[in-house]
Amino acid sequence: MKTIFIAITSGTLLFPAACTAAPNVFRSWFTPTVVPTNFTGMVRYEAEITGEPASVGFNYDGVSRPMRDDGSNGDRVAGDAVWTCLFTANEILSRNTANRVFHPIIGTCNPAGAGAFNVVAEVWSSQMGLVPLRNVSATAQETDYVVNYLATKAQLANFNPVFWANRFYTNHGDNYDFLNFIHIAGVRGNRYHFHIRNSVQGIGLPLFEDSAVFGSAGRLQGGSVFPISSFYDGGGAGFAHETGHQWINFLSGAFATGVPHWPKGNVAINVMGFTIGGGVGGNYSYTFTSNGSGGYVVGPPVQTNLTTFNRMELYLMGLAAPAEVPAYFVLNDQNQNVSNGQTLTAGEISLVTVNDVIAANGPRVPDSTHSQKLFRTATIILSEQLLDHYAMSFYDYFTRRAEARQPHTYAEGLASSTGNPFYVATSGRAVMVTKITDDVPTLRMIRQADGTLRLLFPARIGVSYQPQRSFDLRTWSNDGPPLRIPVVNPPVDPATSIVLTPLPGTNQTFYRLQVSY
Ligand SMILES: [Zn+2]
Repeated sequence: MKTIFIAITSGTLLFPAACTAAPNVFRSWFTPTVVPTNFTGMVRYEAEITGEPASVGFNYDGVSRPMRDDGSNGDRVAGDAVWTCLFTANEILSRNTANRVFHPIIGTCNPAGAGAFNVVAEVWSSQMGLVPLRNVSATAQETDYVVNYLATKAQLANFNPVFWANRFYTNHGDNYDFLNFIHIAGVRGNRYHFHIRNSVQGIGLPLFEDSAVFGSAGRLQGGSVFPISSFYDGGGAGFAHETGHQWINFLSGAFATGVPHWPKGNVAINVMGFTIGGGVGGNYSYTFTSNGSGGYVVGPPVQTNLTTFNRMELYLMGLAAPAEVPAYFVLNDQNQNVSNGQTLTAGEISLVTVNDVIAANGPRVPDSTHSQKLFRTATIILSEQLLDHYAMSFYDYFTRRAEARQPHTYAEGLASSTGNPFYVATSGRAVMVTKITDDVPTLRMIRQADGTLRLLFPARIGVSYQPQRSFDLRTWSNDGPPLRIPVVNPPVDPATSIVLTPLPGTNQTFYRLQVSY
């Protein structure tokens, strides 16, 4: 199995790395997992800490309160390396300010002899609603947007995407390009993307096909893993970035020094960022303005750039033609640190054009005319107890946000800003569908005066609708060509109608729409 793992951090490192000898927060969680705004009980925070610290404090509001592993004050089991402290519901909920988007920063967990580990909670609010929940079995439940499986601690600690993907496909069709995995009380670590299939030429990746290993009949392309649930937002930068790794950056040539992100340069100021080292990415928080003589003036960052794919990124995704891609520069000295107001001279940079990319990697096939424009993602949550209705609705909400078509506020880690969901991030050139269940459009049929039939239904951009007819409700055949609603900007979700002509000599014909996306 050819599986490539790519690591990424957020721009702001939420958790400092601890050296091996020092105590380390292995994983941590809240109970309830997601705190509802109507909750009035005590909220338990637990952290499994290695390295046997003599004590652990939790800094809340500048005051250190002791965490316990002695079976007292809410600690469940003495001496099990799981340290506990309790909060009132209000201590959690009052931190949920608007710019935190239901991800309040609570404080830091401070094991003696180690660093400070930032802690972010998750809050359900009535504006998310309580979505319909289906119990599948004693170990599985679903909403329209998320699947929740019961997992053991060992299964979280040794995450095996092949196992969970195969389980998912036992009762879901092969309708998804990507799988998202969210861990509740997962091992503290960076989110990452891995490849399962690549059928795209010209992006620096070999062609490979491992979808069958994962239980897919051929559609599944990759997966993204969010080991810390509070970092997950389908409408945020992390989702766009990890999805972008399906295509970016594996190029040979001038951009190769940055793989799997970009090298330092103006190509790195957008979604995919630059590689800090060891495959880990970071935000390149600058803007660059041409000085008119071959150089660039360094300016301050624009927050929405982190959720806007640039034209080189769109080209690699199959969403921009070569003629649309301007030249980008990379710093000749990748150890150079730039600062706001600095002027980079022409001698300090090298321009890279899309033709350079094509010369080194071949043309992108399929090109932007023939490439995929609609992607489907299924989101799978692993937890040691099945989640309650509030938590399922919370993750449903943050998965639904991937389909949004307007910029919105998001909070990831300690950062909060305005961001673009996938459709906007691609400048309206591609659609991300995160709903797991298929849409069932309401179909209306009108017999017209001339004997023809008009089918009316609400359509979704990027989706294909094939009218079919039957005379006996057993055998169905296509009636005319499929109608594909183009992905355009601004989006147009038309109330679509198709006119069909019943075959002469038949006294009864049945119609249906086959929806594919
Ligand atoms: Zn990355």
